[in-house]
Amino acid sequence: MATSESNTTYSAPVGSVDLAAMNDEGEPYEIWPCGSCLPWHAEVVRADEEVLVREWHAVNCPEFQKLIKG
Ligand SMILES: [Zn+2]
Repeated sequence: MATSESNTTYSAPVGSVDLAAMNDEGEPYEIWPCGSCLPWHAEVVRADEEVLVREWHAVNCPEFQKLIKG
């Protein structure tokens, strides 16, 4: 939950979450920048045979909290 003390600025501490790059049909997902935090960025990582998208968010970002809680 966002509070007035949430830190989602460019200098906020960041955390990452790994997401599937493609759906079950093998079609790539569109990636949109996070509208809830400024330090958002993404990188493509390879884990064994799988290609993943690693999204970085401010740790207090509500979208990030949603993602890591599944
Ligand atoms: Zn975010």
